[in-house]
Amino acid sequence: MNDLLKHTIYKDPERFRLVRKIFELYATGNYSLKDVRKLITSAGLLSRKKNMLSVSNIQSILSNSFYYGVFKYNGEMYDGKHEPMIAKKLFEACQKVMADRSRPKKPSQKEYPFRNMLNCGECGCAITSETQKGHSYYRCTKKRDKKCSQKYIREEVLAEEVANELQKVSLSSAWAEWMLGELNKEEAEAAQSGAVFAQNLKDKIKELEGKLDLLLDAHLDGTISREEYIAKKEKIITEKAELSEKLKDFERNGNHWLEPARQFILAAQQAKIIALQENPVAGRDFIKRISSNRVLLSQKVAIEPKKSWQILYNLPAEARSAEATNSQHTIWLPR
Ligand SMILES: [Zn+2]
Repeated sequence: MNDLLKHTIYKDPERFRLVRKIFELYATGNYSLKDVRKLITSAGLLSRKKNMLSVSNIQSILSNSFYYGVFKYNGEMYDGKHEPMIAKKLFEACQKVMADRSRPKKPSQKEYPFRNMLNCGECGCAITSETQKGHSYYRCTKKRDKKCSQKYIREEVLAEEVANELQKVSLSSAWAEWMLGELNKEEAEAAQSGAVFAQNLKDKIKELEGKLDLLLDAHLDGTISREEYIAKKEKIITEKAELSEKLKDFERNGNHWLEPARQFILAAQQAKIIALQENPVAGRDFIKRISSNRVLLSQKVAIEPKKSWQILYNLPAEARSAEATNSQHTIWLPR
């Protein structure tokens, strides 16, 4: 795995991102190793031989300290010289989930996946849950308004409603692929023009270094006086420091909008996977993450998506799920 990481992943930001995603998904505690494998495979992560990763591959990735910057060789721990892919905290969160899972479970109480998620659309009170004759139901607590007329909803019906909402913020894989491709193109273009800019600065810095050498020679030869030498040297050094600062700024600030855009696209694709998988807990968490408000009214769920998700949510279904074709991209693609 180290070999795979060093030689493939660090050269390939897409793989890098997907491997990090494995840790992020697993650390939530909402996914089994199998779930993670399924999600990450459909997001495009394959082995070097283009096979689906196995569950034990996923497990060994999650257990490998190499990803947060240290590694073992012949039983000895080394501080890696590579840039860590994930934070140590995230790695530890995954170890905890793994340890908790391997412990024998005590019989758990009945779970209500959609608890703490919705408010009543009529009176604004929280939606709570209970079991009647073996079925799970959700209803308005009516704590503030006893006259609220809203009725019970069965969990199965509510689950379908939630899946519908998820579908509204999801992208087909054709779309996601196209968008990721466009981002990669833009990144390459930006990197190219950036490289020219940075090279210019580097050339100028080098030129100033050359001048400093000449100046020193001139002083040592006795061609210029010490006062002259010191004055000229100061001027060149100041100029050089300004250019170096500019270069550092540029290297630091690069294209920081690209990564959030990628995350958005991947998450939008993940919404589809979750909706299709009918994993209610993951679906609930996802909806909570992307919305600021969620309401249940007359057995219908409506969410208020956070800013970047509104575009997707308000699109007609055909536009969202259609194959990526040129005529449609202009409708809504953020520029
Ligand atoms: Zn109510």
